[in-house]
Amino acid sequence: MVPSTIDCYSHQIVSEFPSRLFDYAIRVSYSKGELVKDVKDIQHPVFRACLQHCGFSRDVELHYAADLPSFTGLGSSSSFTVGLLHALHAFRGERVLPSQLANEAVHIEREVLKECVGLQDQYAAAFGGFNFIEFSGTAEPKVSHISISMGNLELLQQHIVLIFTKIKRKAVEIEQSKNLKNTQQRSGRAGPEPGRLPAFRSKRHFPLIRPVKEGLEKKIREGGRVSPEEARKLYEFPLALLGELANERRNLAKRSDYDGRGEEVVTYIVDRNINYTNVCDVYCKFCAFYRTETDPDHYVLSHDQIDRKIDELVAVGGNQILLQGGHHPKLGLEWYLDLLRHLRAKYPQVNIHGFSPPEFNHFAEVFRMPLEEVLRKFLEAGLGSIPGGGAEILVDRVRQRIAPRKCDTDAWLRVMEVS
Ligand code: SF4
Repeated sequence: MVPSTIDCYSHQIVSEFPSRLFDYAIRVSYSKGELVKDVKDIQHPVFRACLQHCGFSRDVELHYAADLPSFTGLGSSSSFTVGLLHALHAFRGERVLPSQLANEAVHIEREVLKECVGLQDQYAAAFGGFNFIEFSGTAEPKVSHISISMGNLELLQQHIVLIFTKIKRKAVEIEQSKNLKNTQQRSGRAGPEPGRLPAFRSKRHFPLIRPVKEGLEKKIREGGRVSPEEARKLYEFPLALLGELANERRNLAKRSDYDGRGEEVVTYIVDRNINYTNVCDVYCKFCAFYRTETDPDHYVLSHDQIDRKIDELVAVGGNQILLQGGHHPKLGLEWYLDLLRHLRAKYPQVNIHGFSPPEFNHFAEVFRMPLEEVLRKFLEAGLGSIPGGGAEILVDRVRQRIAPRKCDTDAWLRVMEVS
């Protein structure tokens, strides 16, 4: 199963209770308050079971508050058990793995309290986030975390509707209703369907989460051009289908090439990435590459070092380099033009696919020169083509968060337009 968790919390506070000053030993507060002398006198079954499980008998105070009411069917009870166990372990300075927390919560709910519950809610609560959980008989469930991009997370959130019905359900009551229904069915009497909300039975009630793809899929297969609005819908396509459609479009475009063998022939070139410097003053949040000029491992490659890399490339039949670097604040125009002239003269057969729109914006700023002039000078000196690097996500709202010092979308696009 693929469960997810939501940003609603079970807030648990565990603290030391100075029982020598009072005539009770444990204080528990939730929608009620309990002051007891012995842990076994606590009425709330989960507080009692968790405290006993973790070996607390006195001198402890517990406060509980929740973002959601109980018995909503959203797994709030298991989240409460998991959260309480986590808080009790933390109070004793113990770090526990999510799997241990989940197993302890399952043990308490199923073995100690004899509740008729499954495993999924405890695992979902203990691991948090978005997970793929495999349940296989008696073996411990296997949990694989699913990474989800910011864009897809936003899309998912836009397509989820949480409706609060005020209907309260307990797992044990649902189970009893199921048993009743089975008995009625065996005796030939139809009963109500327990534990289900009729309004949720059909996908028709969730038009937002039904992928609107049939017409678009057909259009793509037939070679039609996708509009910007339709392109957004592609985010909802399963990855395997997207791959299949991409392959179909490629075949459509290439079929008649290579004497009709276009579907069988795929071409490529051998090229080499060369990062001429790792010095950069942009400090993108996701970047592990950049160094400052004070870092001991910062570098600017010499012509000799770059030549050696190209010699190795040429030796294996390569014919292009991808030349990119950080935004070095001090390398001047002549440094770049010298390098390009040198490479063009020494390796005329090697295309210089170089720099990126953010680098060109940086050059224009540092050289105090119009972008058009920078591009013209670089092309004259030997630059062959410009890669689309540094685009990451061309949405300024996202760029501001991940790379606030890098050029914005319009500036990125302008380099491509001018070049
Ligand atoms: S501009 Fe490039 S090199 Fe510099 S920090 Fe950002 S990703 Fe890294």
